[in-house]
Amino acid sequence: RFAQDARARAEADSFGSLISVLSAEQVDAQATDISRRLAAGETLPLAGVPIVIKDNLNLIGTATTCGSRMLAGYVSPYTATAVQKVQRAGAVIVGKANMDEFAMGSSTETGAFGATQNPWDTSRVPGGTSGGSAAAVASGMVALSLGSDTGGSVRQPAGFTGVYGFKPTYGRVSRYGLVAHASSLDQIGPFATSAQDLALMLDAISGHDPRDATSLEAAPNFAASLGAEIKGLRVGVISESLGGNTAGVEAALKHMLDALKDLGATVSDISLPTLQHAVAAYYLISTPEASSNLARYDGMVYGTRVDAGDVNTSMSRARGQGFGREVKRRILIGTYALSSGYYDAYYSKAMKVRRLIADDFNRAFGQFDILITPTSPFPAFKRGEKVSDPVAMYAADVDTVAISLAGLPALSVPAGFETVDGKRLPLGIQLIAPALSDEKLLTVVSALE
Ligand code: GLN
Repeated sequence: RFAQDARARAEADSFGSLISVLSAEQVDAQATDISRRLAAGETLPLAGVPIVIKDNLNLIGTATTCGSRMLAGYVSPYTATAVQKVQRAGAVIVGKANMDEFAMGSSTETGAFGATQNPWDTSRVPGGTSGGSAAAVASGMVALSLGSDTGGSVRQPAGFTGVYGFKPTYGRVSRYGLVAHASSLDQIGPFATSAQDLALMLDAISGHDPRDATSLEAAPNFAASLGAEIKGLRVGVISESLGGNTAGVEAALKHMLDALKDLGATVSDISLPTLQHAVAAYYLISTPEASSNLARYDGMVYGTRVDAGDVNTSMSRARGQGFGREVKRRILIGTYALSSGYYDAYYSKAMKVRRLIADDFNRAFGQFDILITPTSPFPAFKRGEKVSDPVAMYAADVDTVAISLAGLPALSVPAGFETVDGKRLPLGIQLIAPALSDEKLLTVVSALE
């Protein structure tokens, strides 16, 4: 009944959080399986907990659209490993969450099936690209959801909607069954409203998967990392992110730093100069990867078929009609950056910058246990404000993409509000840990709670 209640809330959702809702029978089948396993004496940490998953995660027998007309009508023939793992832990999936098309964007406005509204102010975006997964938790439809983060797509929407959003160390969670955007950056992560709930999800989804060669062997015990003291924790505030923030974001950061000091942490600024090149490097690395990954949607093997007589015309029409503007823009930029004559100037140079950024973080972690920055320089922006200005949209990723390039774990924590036009808008502050120290972030937030 608990899962069916969540399904009813999903049906009634007015924020455009979901692309599809599972049928009552599909929800029942999952619930029955859980009852059977509980009766057999299994321990299920998420027994009967309803969740939604982003629509780029495959779940057998359900539509997976990635917010694209290209995949309209596609039904998943298998289930993503992370999704299988939450189901194994007892969760019941009730819906597939809205997103920017193929996870490209920062506002959940570029999907083919409509935009998601921010539950705090419906004239504003919920952030993106996992805006549907974020809004579903923020509105109380479900307590937990899964999104994916390539350059900020879990953290930024978490910040914009006032919930926790966790991007694990690259490789911590299997990408098998997550439709690829940029394979060297993509990582699945949870949304939740408490450190405890985050730990349950992270413990469920982490670990090695023989089907993803980049997935890591050992997985930490997240639940066990809750509740420890953080006295003596060395916190570095990234000084590159200290300009250009709204007054509310500055105040939220200061408030968080004061709270950490009260708990016995030491706080000082640290400069990571290469971060100023992160947005440029990110878009010159993610678009080439995306252009390669999206080559499979030719209307022949994958994607909506358009029969136009000869093969070439059929393919180009399928791609012309199936992809939206932002996806086409990325394919063009990515193909250009990889092409002979430009490769050295763009892709290869961006890869060198990526290495320097990772080195900068490593140097900082020689001095600090965690680093801290805002999740975004501003709270949720208006719908329609940036969607026709790609450069402004890309610039909105300034606080999240460097961490993705370095493969580090980061958590956006709800950190107060800023009142804009009479509406209270949530703010997020981002905590960053060294690679493989994901659980440290949960220790810190559980101390802050
Ligand atoms: N905004 C970034 C982009 O459009 C991040 C996307 C993501 O994390 N999926 O590439």
